[in-house]
Amino acid sequence: MPLYEYQCMTCQHHFTLIRSMHDTSSPSCPKCKKMDKVERLISNTSFILKGSGWFDSGYNNTKKTSSEKKSEQASKKNEEQKTTDKTTDS
Ligand SMILES: [Zn+2]
Repeated sequence: MPLYEYQCMTCQHHFTLIRSMHDTSSPSCPKCKKMDKVERLISNTSFILKGSGWFDSGYNNTKKTSSEKKSEQASKKNEEQKTTDKTTDS
């Protein structure tokens, strides 16, 4: 099962979970327990390793990184949706 990374937009907590590819529901944040602002980061685990600091410093210093990340995320999300759409019935 794939390892997914998540970031809570409420408290900026970053965490990982192992989940089924077909489980697209949002988990709740283990830190603040909110689930409505948890964003899934589809990435290679190499992308966010220790102390790159983009999530620690909040939104201010991260424009370049987050836009790169978003476009990567978006294209992967599209691919994934194409494949999952057809298999959700099973
Ligand atoms: Zn949180």
